[in-house]
Amino acid sequence: GKGAAMVTAVAYRLTEQARQIQQTLAEFRLNKSQLLEVKKRMRVEIERGLKKDSHKEATVKMLPTFVRRTPDGTENGDFLALDLGGTNFRVLLVKIRSGKRRSVEMHNKIYAIPIEVMQGTGEELFDHIVHCISDFLDYMGMKSARLPLGFTFSFPCHQTSLDAGILVNWTKGFKATDCEGEDVVELLREAIKRKEEFELDVVAIVNDTVGTMMTCAYEEPTCEVGLIAGTGSNACYMEEMRNIEIVPGTEGRMCVNMEWGAFGDNGCLDDIRTKYDQAVDENSLNEGKQRYEKMCSGMYLGEIVRQILIDLTKRGFLFRGQISETLKTRGIFETKFLSQIESDRLALLQVRAILQQLGLDSTCDDSIIVKEVCGTVSRRAAQICGAGMAAVVDKIRENRGLDHLDVTVGVDGTLYKLHPHFSRIFLQTVKELAPKCDVNFLLSEDGSGKGAALITAVGCRQRELDAQ
Ligand code: BGC
Ligand code: MG
Repeated sequence: GKGAAMVTAVAYRLTEQARQIQQTLAEFRLNKSQLLEVKKRMRVEIERGLKKDSHKEATVKMLPTFVRRTPDGTENGDFLALDLGGTNFRVLLVKIRSGKRRSVEMHNKIYAIPIEVMQGTGEELFDHIVHCISDFLDYMGMKSARLPLGFTFSFPCHQTSLDAGILVNWTKGFKATDCEGEDVVELLREAIKRKEEFELDVVAIVNDTVGTMMTCAYEEPTCEVGLIAGTGSNACYMEEMRNIEIVPGTEGRMCVNMEWGAFGDNGCLDDIRTKYDQAVDENSLNEGKQRYEKMCSGMYLGEIVRQILIDLTKRGFLFRGQISETLKTRGIFETKFLSQIESDRLALLQVRAILQQLGLDSTCDDSIIVKEVCGTVSRRAAQICGAGMAAVVDKIRENRGLDHLDVTVGVDGTLYKLHPHFSRIFLQTVKELAPKCDVNFLLSEDGSGKGAALITAVGCRQRELDAQ
């Protein structure tokens, strides 16, 4: 009768809804041939960045770092390190001891960088940094020491030496004025002078990927690649000098900061980008830039999820069709929430509780859908990040004319370390897409800080040798 017809209608609406949701998510589900295509395109962009003729227009910049070797245990001394551009800003004192009982001892303090400072003037930003250093030196009782300093600055910089780096453009949440196109080492030195409280010897500017690689290489000499899968996404590796055409010389190797986050900025990933990726880009501080990073790093995954949820809600599939103020708020789904929602041990009720905490009133069906959306977005992130890494390790293998390569990658970043599935799917993907490489992944403990100090130590040693 009439009742049965209505039940059928409701059931039909439900399956039709499920079908439409699956259709939306299908765009995020990449098959192996698509991933191999991503790997292949990354390789093309790597070559463009390395070659003199194409370097200027290249999107994957392949920036030289002037780090020519990994540590060998002879590094020694006390160093100050700064770490700017990750989840926290930190100042560190790092004591490195060489010899038989080699060791690294670290003291550090975390400081907040208020959003007004991140997006204010360059002078305010660097004054704030120097203010934090001053506080730290007081705290350690070391204001008169004139220590050598390594500056981990996790943004793309054009380096012409170990201690000069022109900021190409800000990424992630930073947008301070008057810094792009400037040498950030000079900006730091000037701010130290303005303060007139202490002196420091700025020896090295270091990308966080390079710091991570160096830290892992200190323990494991086969480490020649660094990866950050955190707020941002990037990698570095030891490239042959003969391939780095913009640096004179053909002997030996140099670490290259890939800046792979910008992969896709020339449109080469457009066929796999969805309208949700475009919406995230349009809503960001740097529209059109860092398109790959916006598909695979912690700062943006939650934003992709939010865009999908808004769309599903508009179509009446979620939250009773009501778009709440919360859902309209940029940045509500931080990596830690995604990690919680996707945790296997979490019952649906707990997912609902998390959504509730965020001010999203969900039914049980809603939480199933939200969890699936999160899982789909983070899986694609891990896969395309893995495709990028597969391109890197295969490039190293070919550089060395090997049929088989054993290599270690030093890794850091909140997404890699905290997310319940990202690292596993990432590793699986690298294995599948680069079958001729045996890749060992090593988590770095405090890579940015320790690495900056190690690079500074190598730099100081080189200076001594040059002076002789
Ligand atoms: C920056 C890179 C950095 C990465 C990870 C990106 O946004 O451009 O320089 O290595 O984030 O922190
Ligand atoms: Mg970091």
